[in-house]
Amino acid sequence: MLSKETIAVHSGTIIDKMNGGILSPLFPASSHKHLDMKEDVYPRHGNLPNQRAVANKMCALESGGEAALVFSSGMAAFSTAMLAHLKSGDHIVLQNGVYSGALKFVQNHLTKLGITSTISENCEVNSIIDCVKQNTKLIYIETPTNPMLKIINIELLAKFAKSKNLFTVIDNTIATPINQNPLEYGIDLVLHSATKFLGGHGDISGGIAVGSEKSISLMTEYMNDFGGCLNAQSCHLLERSLRTLAIRMAKVNHNAMELSSRLNENPNVTKVYYPGLAGHHNHEIAREQMRGFGGLVSFEIAQKFDTTSFQKKLNLIIPSNSLGDLETTLNSPYQASSSFRSLSEQEQKKSGVTRQLIRMSVGIEDVDDLYEDLHQALK
Ligand code: PLP
Repeated sequence: MLSKETIAVHSGTIIDKMNGGILSPLFPASSHKHLDMKEDVYPRHGNLPNQRAVANKMCALESGGEAALVFSSGMAAFSTAMLAHLKSGDHIVLQNGVYSGALKFVQNHLTKLGITSTISENCEVNSIIDCVKQNTKLIYIETPTNPMLKIINIELLAKFAKSKNLFTVIDNTIATPINQNPLEYGIDLVLHSATKFLGGHGDISGGIAVGSEKSISLMTEYMNDFGGCLNAQSCHLLERSLRTLAIRMAKVNHNAMELSSRLNENPNVTKVYYPGLAGHHNHEIAREQMRGFGGLVSFEIAQKFDTTSFQKKLNLIIPSNSLGDLETTLNSPYQASSSFRSLSEQEQKKSGVTRQLIRMSVGIEDVDDLYEDLHQALK
């Protein structure tokens, strides 16, 4: 068994027989000869060489995956997964705290197709079990969640779902396959937004699904119909990024742990949300199922500060809505996220997001420089 570091660098690389280059060559063609060829190669079929290189690397990184498929965004992966695995009359349970864009898709689009949904009251497995009905087909979870860093017990949830023959899907974007491999615990399908830590350099939009051959081949048929495929050039960039994923995440994990501990001691911070902190409500579960605690840290600043002035006082850390880049970025989820604003007042309240909340995506800079910037902005 190779380690994640080695898999990240080597798995899936296309052998360059012509020149002996050690990187996968880029094959930009969208048109291919079809006579006497083994298969019909086309971007929407998900079988371009550079799409396959990324899929193969991700399949190896998400231990337990039989196959993987690359999409043009995390939402393309999510919407295709839902439409491929559900039909009219089905019911889906969504864990409280899943990405608000996913929630919006379910409520705006699946409802129109006669697929109903229930959001669990909280992030505990029992609260998901409470939502299951006769016609429930699928359970959708995310751990850690964005931005509240809630943790759900993956193994317990998967065990319950298996006993009821329910299909389980997880958003593993925030953890990344370096820190957490849900298929090993019995989850059926893992989704990622590759726009975040997988891409890691703020220059790619992408999505990934990893699961069984059966599930991925079904999703490939749907991607062919819906069109959410990723072009060869972006796949080539994404493969480059994945080669450094393990080393980037090691630094990100270290920085985030250190910053969350220091913020926890700062008198102008009233609460810190990070699964690596002993005080996190599900820290023990996180320790069991994660190898590192990831790069998202959320915290509430004291009432005497407003989040906009705080952000304007930062010299190094960049106020930005996306996450997972080399640079440390942060935002106020209450103000910034359009998908959060689109939630009803009741849903917003249930999410735990407050006016004082800051969500920080920790990068790979020097941790002392980062803390100094936060410290001076909180004076
Ligand atoms: N999942 C999580 C946890 C996210 O934060 C996001 C986007 O912010 C998505 C999925 C959707 O990804 P994309 O923007 O690539 O469609």
